Amino acid sequence: MNEAGIYVHYPFCERLCPYCDFAVKVKKVIPEEQYTTAVLNEIKKSSKEWSHFKFKTLYLGGGTPSLWSGFGLGRLFEGLDSRFDLCLDEITIEANPKDIQTENLEKWSTLGIGRVSLGVQSFSDVYLKKLGRNHNGEDAKQALEKLNRYGFSISADLIFAGPGQTLEEFSSDLEIMGDYVDHISAYALTIEENTVFWKQKKAGILALPTDEIEDAFFDLRDEKLSRIGFARYEVSSFSRGVEHQANHNSGYWLGRPYLGLGIGAHSMLRTPTQIQRRANTRSLKKYYEEPEKYREVEIVSAQDHAFERMFLAARTRFWFSPKEILSSFASLGDDFVIACESVFNRFSEVHIERAGDSYRLTSRGLDISDSIGKALAEKIR
Ligand code: SF4
Repeated sequence: MNEAGIYVHYPFCERLCPYCDFAVKVKKVIPEEQYTTAVLNEIKKSSKEWSHFKFKTLYLGGGTPSLWSGFGLGRLFEGLDSRFDLCLDEITIEANPKDIQTENLEKWSTLGIGRVSLGVQSFSDVYLKKLGRNHNGEDAKQALEKLNRYGFSISADLIFAGPGQTLEEFSSDLEIMGDYVDHISAYALTIEENTVFWKQKKAGILALPTDEIEDAFFDLRDEKLSRIGFARYEVSSFSRGVEHQANHNSGYWLGRPYLGLGIGAHSMLRTPTQIQRRANTRSLKKYYEEPEKYREVEIVSAQDHAFERMFLAARTRFWFSPKEILSSFASLGDDFVIACESVFNRFSEVHIERAGDSYRLTSRGLDISDSIGKALAEKIR
């Protein structure tokens, strides 16, 4: 039985953050019943094709899935349970600090949700305002305290090097975070096309740090998190011990198939004869009408899939073996294995460790993962 993960997208948010380019809808009244019914419909239609998978992780992302009512989530879980082979060892929900209310925590526990990915971003009220967030630092602290009291496993997101943030503010964010959580995703703000920040940047009215200062943010993140007991195991992910690593996201990095449900959700399906990447429509209207009709489907060549597997593995500290990865693609042959290994062998032991046929980035190697990916692309793509 093949193992896989499920991602369910809940697209609704109370307002649009100025840096966001996710599949998000801001509605005065959330059409929850209609959306949940549409997701259940997609589940029903997907069940046959995904019947030979055992699902190990479930991730509710968004948008703001912490706005999903207990009734709606109950319907979703029933639908998943009745149609798929669930053997879940991790269920995660993304949450806004404002939604960490007793009622929500109780219903999440009842449903078996044990992990919360909290969108903290910072504890500085000034900076949170600049990021356009609807919570403040105190909301985030209270949410973290409450999640701890209820025994949830917590991952928290921090966005650094955004408009006007100082190194002192970020340093304090990291320090505070260390008191509450065992997993942190900390990434630099990226300005995505057509967002409000993108327009402000183009107009020259967005105060972003220089490249030099941004580098100082990265150094501060890595040094401070290491000092307070976090190990970096992926370019932006840190955990206190292997047991706190994110299983669902690790599945993406290790090439595990995943089923994405809801608008804008992506899937990667592997059958004995084919690998497909799929992207659901971002339009609610089209999704309600007929998701399959508007889904983009790409057949991935063995070469592209092998490249992607190694590219993603080389953004983590997990061991990977090109020989083993490529053994399931007979068409690629031994020359392809040799070509891949020659790329990894080119980097010194300071950046890539070796043990037999296997490779693993060192923590310093994570800093140059972009260059390693580029070298791999030049050689085998
Ligand atoms: S809360 Fe998250 S998903 Fe919603 S608009 Fe803000 S960044 Fe986007």
